[in-house]
Amino acid sequence: MTDAVSRLAAIQARIAGRAALVAVSKTFSAGEIEPVLQAGQRLFGENRVQEAAAKWPGLRVKFGGVELHLIGPLQSNKAAEAVALFDVIQTIDRPKIAEAVAKEMKKAGKRLRCLIQVNTGHEPQKAGIAPEALDGFLRQCREDYALPVSGLMCIPPVEGDPRPHFKALAEMAKRHGLKELSMGMSGDFETAIEEGATLVRVGSAIFGSRPQITR
Ligand SMILES: *Cc1c(COP(=O)(O)O)cnc(C)c1O
Repeated sequence: MTDAVSRLAAIQARIAGRAALVAVSKTFSAGEIEPVLQAGQRLFGENRVQEAAAKWPGLRVKFGGVELHLIGPLQSNKAAEAVALFDVIQTIDRPKIAEAVAKEMKKAGKRLRCLIQVNTGHEPQKAGIAPEALDGFLRQCREDYALPVSGLMCIPPVEGDPRPHFKALAEMAKRHGLKELSMGMSGDFETAIEEGATLVRVGSAIFGSRPQITR
């Protein structure tokens, strides 16, 4: 068993079926991801379209049933490629992106699950729609673009207690009848599950530490 495979088992044991595990494989090579696929993991997250394009088509040939989630910011000129590569887009955060993804899904005859990223901490450097703008944006996604929005995603500020952010996101999802809640990472996924996460995004606790900070 590789280290990643034993760490995966430990994380799955801690989750204990309470949420789905998205294994975040950004910065790790196809060769490093393969043992985790061999161990049965099928949900993965990547934050860059180009990096996913280099790794995942090949891995999908070898392993069936993969569900790939885009968890990083999307540029509208990459929307077509993202729709081709991914099964779920967790980072819909502005009208231009919602429109581009809806248009490319229609063109490709493919319906991806979409989550709206909410900037619960109002951090200027972070992607995501402001909480107070969510109602209007969600209405726009549904009415203007017919985008299949199934949930919400957030990345709380690095400093401080993430729980209030998880609570706030869960409350927003409930208010809008959205079932999927993507929240919690290596350091706080158990807190996120307590607050209702249905998807947790865990990278370094499975694959090990990454060489540098990525978005
Ligand atoms: C990298 C990343 C993760 C995983 O972070 P870890 O702390 O390594 O578990 C989760 N969500 C997003 C959006 C990420 O970019």
